[in-house]
Amino acid sequence: MADGLSKTQLAALKNLLVKRQSELKALDDEGANWRGTVELDQQSVGRLSRMDALQQQEMAQAEARRRTSDLARIDIALKRIAEDEYGWCAECGEPIAYKRLEIDPAAALCVNCAR
Ligand SMILES: [Zn+2]
Repeated sequence: MADGLSKTQLAALKNLLVKRQSELKALDDEGANWRGTVELDQQSVGRLSRMDALQQQEMAQAEARRRTSDLARIDIALKRIAEDEYGWCAECGEPIAYKRLEIDPAAALCVNCAR
């Protein structure tokens, strides 16, 4: 059986997760402010730009949903770090390649199981 992550690798990935988590949270705050603005402006804008605003609002909401699910994945990854289960595939129990985790530190499955 192959080795898991080294302490250095684990620390680097944890940093990545924490950094991404705070970035996502900051974006979420920004989005919340922005959505409020659209609602306030609705009475003063014409029909076309209102449709634009609604469309943009929908896009912002879709992005917000994606951020929420990304944050949930990061939460799970951080929990798995705390429980010493991070870096091992949740499906087959084999180590997840560091290269893969560098790209997606919240990945819970190895390349084979994610397919
Ligand atoms: Zn696996």
